[in-house]
Amino acid sequence: MIDSHAHIYASEFDNDRDDVVQRALAQGIEHILLPNIDLDSIEPMLKTEAAYPEICRSMMGLHPCYVDGNVDQTLATIYQWFSQHSFIAVGEIGIDLYWDKTYRTEQEKAFITQLNWAKEMRLPVVIHTRDSIEETLSLLRQEQDGSLSGVFHCFGGSIEEAKAINDLGFHLGLGGVSTFKNGGMDVVIPELDLNYLILETDCPYLAPVPHRGKRNEPAYTQLVAQRVADLREMSLQQVDELTTHNAKMLFKL
Ligand SMILES: [Zn+2]
Repeated sequence: MIDSHAHIYASEFDNDRDDVVQRALAQGIEHILLPNIDLDSIEPMLKTEAAYPEICRSMMGLHPCYVDGNVDQTLATIYQWFSQHSFIAVGEIGIDLYWDKTYRTEQEKAFITQLNWAKEMRLPVVIHTRDSIEETLSLLRQEQDGSLSGVFHCFGGSIEEAKAINDLGFHLGLGGVSTFKNGGMDVVIPELDLNYLILETDCPYLAPVPHRGKRNEPAYTQLVAQRVADLREMSLQQVDELTTHNAKMLFKL
């Protein structure tokens, strides 16, 4: 099993990161993929990767919530990292219109710039959207030349949105939201194309039921897998094999 989106380098894990990784291994987690968010997260992320080189793999990118008036400079610094270290993806990148629309133009520019890095470096992208699925899809449609691949992480949208994402050749990352009783995913998950599904936690956020509201961690990927298995009338092992295969192909693990 692979946790395709985990911020275990965050300070929330400073006191027990090793226990968290050991619990993940005990649950059969093979890889934990680490998305970068801004300039400050790079050092703790690379340290975490270095501590667990067989398990943790880093991405590099600028998260839309950390885009501001200095975006050109920040992107220049982030871009340099690609020549200094090997990364499995450009991420996380995207558009977030929920928290703050002040830098909407800058967010779009940063997203397009980073999509072009992905084309140049032949890397998949890990996309964050919030209140912005339509905007994100239209930018992606504009940039998709057949070479872009990636995942809409933390997917909680409709069947139509899932189809539009898959039509662009993109995967869906299912996490804790899939287990929420009021999330509406019980009707969406049975309709999704299994070839485009991967699992994630987005820890420390969005812990799946029954840990909702508490700190999330990679070991809980199994709870998401179980939820998908229940809704699809499949075995946990089938969901594990399928999503692990999809993640390995997407991230070339
Ligand atoms: Zn994230």
